[in-house]
Parts: sequence; structure tokens; C-alpha cells
Amino acid sequence: MADTRILVDLQRCTGCWTCAMACKVGHQLADDDWRITVRTLGSGEGIDRPAGQWPELKESWQPIWHTNCIKCSVDRTSTQGRSNAPYCVYSCPNGALTWGEDIDAKIEELRQRDFRIFELPAFEGSKEDVIYATKQ
Ligand code: SF4
Ligand code: SF4
Repeated sequence: MADTRILVDLQRCTGCWTCAMACKVGHQLADDDWRITVRTLGSGEGIDRPAGQWPELKESWQPIWHTNCIKCSVDRTSTQGRSNAPYCVYSCPNGALTWGEDIDAKIEELRQRDFRIFELPAFEGSKEDVIYATKQ
């Protein structure tokens, strides 16, 4: 069975939404149909507002895979290599996403650099087997 895990290095995510748009375009989804959305972790007010007071501002982003994600079709996972990664993983401009069998070595590397590894709790209702790494 194909390894469809996705690892997200949150220190590299800049909230650009390229992963979400690449999925939409690659799968020819309608404008209101998203398989990933990107959550802003800031003040919770307005669009992309950071938390804190200037100059001590803090903001980060977390892509969330929805349950309609198919992670991805068999065609894109049947052979090894980055070019066969899902549209979302392949298109991230910051190298924040790691796919499938490459994940275990990456997790080990990040653990050695004091990253915390976690998954979203079940009550979030997001796609399973998405793993996050953060230093925060
Ligand atoms: S995971 Fe990559 S493509 Fe997606 S929002 Fe973060 S930096 Fe952008
Ligand atoms: S794994 Fe495939 S379906 Fe899921 S978000 Fe990425 S590109 Fe879209």
C-alpha cells in the first residue's frame, strides 16, 4: 500500500497558499472546492493579522488537509521521486512539505534539531496521516 503521509515543517511555511492552489488547478476543482486551506496563527482578527504589539509581533501558518483530500491518486504515488509527489507537496516553494517514504528520515533529522512533532487531534476533523514539525 502506498505511503501517503505528509510532513509539514511549520518553520518553513510562509502561508502562501501555493499548495492549496496547486491542488485546485491540478485536480480542476471548482473555485469553492478546497482540499487544503491554510490557517493563519495570529491574533485571530482580520485578514492575516499578527498577534502581539509592535515590534513584538508573531504570526505563523498551518496548512490543513481536508477529508476530501485523496492523498493523491495511485498514478502520482506509484513511482518514487519528487516529481511523483502530490501537486500540493511538489509545488511548495519553500520545501515545507515532505511526502511518503521520505518522511521517517526527515522526522529524525528535525527531532535532532529540537523540533516538536505532532498531529492534529481527531476533533479537528482533518485528513489523517498529516504530521507537523515545529520549534514553537
Ligand atoms: S506549505 Fe508551502 S505552499 Fe503551502 S502555504 Fe506553506 S509555504 Fe505555501
Ligand atoms: S494530496 Fe492530492 S488531493 Fe490532497 S491536497 Fe494534495 S494535491 Fe490535493
